[in-house]
Amino acid sequence: MTEHVAVVGGGPAGLTAAIYTARAGLDTTVYDAGEPILARNAHLENVPGFPAGVNARTFLDATRQQAENAGVEFVEARVERVAGTDDGFVVETDAAATDTADFVVAASWPDSSYLDDFELSRIDRGSKTMLGVDEFGRTDRDGVYAAGRVARQSHQTVVAAGHGATVGLTVIDDSDVPHYHDWVAPEGYFTGRDRDVPPGCEEIGEAERREREQASLDALAALSPADPPTMHPSVEDDD
Ligand SMILES: Cc1cc2nc3c(=O)[nH]c(=O)nc-3n(C[C@H](O)[C@H](O)[C@H](O)COP(=O)(O)OP(=O)(O)OC[C@H]3O[C@@H](n4cnc5c(N)ncnc54)[C@H](O)[C@@H]3O)c2cc1C
Repeated sequence: MTEHVAVVGGGPAGLTAAIYTARAGLDTTVYDAGEPILARNAHLENVPGFPAGVNARTFLDATRQQAENAGVEFVEARVERVAGTDDGFVVETDAAATDTADFVVAASWPDSSYLDDFELSRIDRGSKTMLGVDEFGRTDRDGVYAAGRVARQSHQTVVAAGHGATVGLTVIDDSDVPHYHDWVAPEGYFTGRDRDVPPGCEEIGEAERREREQASLDALAALSPADPPTMHPSVEDDD
């Protein structure tokens, strides 16, 4: 049976972890209660690949679209509790929905209170609490991982996204999916050297490559100006 990954948080860390696990064939659900903190940014200028920067809301929308394309399911709800079962976890939300999962990824800055059933190491930072993880994103509880800011990563988008990728790969490593690369290579790259295409790799021919390239250019061209930033809640509104 396909294993299920519950990702809590739909910011750069959670979305990227989900893209990786879904692309590996794991059933992946992202639970998100609200807005990633990145929605407050005015213009995002330090993410590679955008020479003049990018509207942070556009970046989030595009990343979410990428996750949906990979097969990720989204649930707009706050996760209130994750409980252990004999063979995994139960995820309880404020939408009164209950789901089961084999793996849980906390990417839910600044909240991790839904993991209070487990004795996890935590780091206090003022009013906020972060989760202690090893270098691959594993917490003290088997099957529970943390990614991005809530896992004490630096406060930058690309760091959170990169850590999400690391954690996604760790989940894949701990799952039944064979050792995994997630590469797309030109036809013959492996087979032209009498090698098998490694798990998680794909060889594509020139026609397919051109088709995907055109689809990628169309997707970029379809991006349009997004909403202005969300102001910090403590800043007074003059209107
Ligand atoms: C004003 C401002 C400007 C910034 N500018 C930049 C910049 O220019 N460049 C840069 O690199 N970084 C910038 N950042 C930092 C960047 O936004 C963060 O480092 C990054 O968003 C962290 O990603 P994350 O996925 O760890 O957390 P987040 O993006 O905060 O995502 C966490 C998600 O989890 C959800 N969540 C929380 N609890 C629950 C729960 N119990 N159940 C379900 N969902 C939950 C939240 O709603 C949120 O969507 C800026 C931040 C701010 C505030």
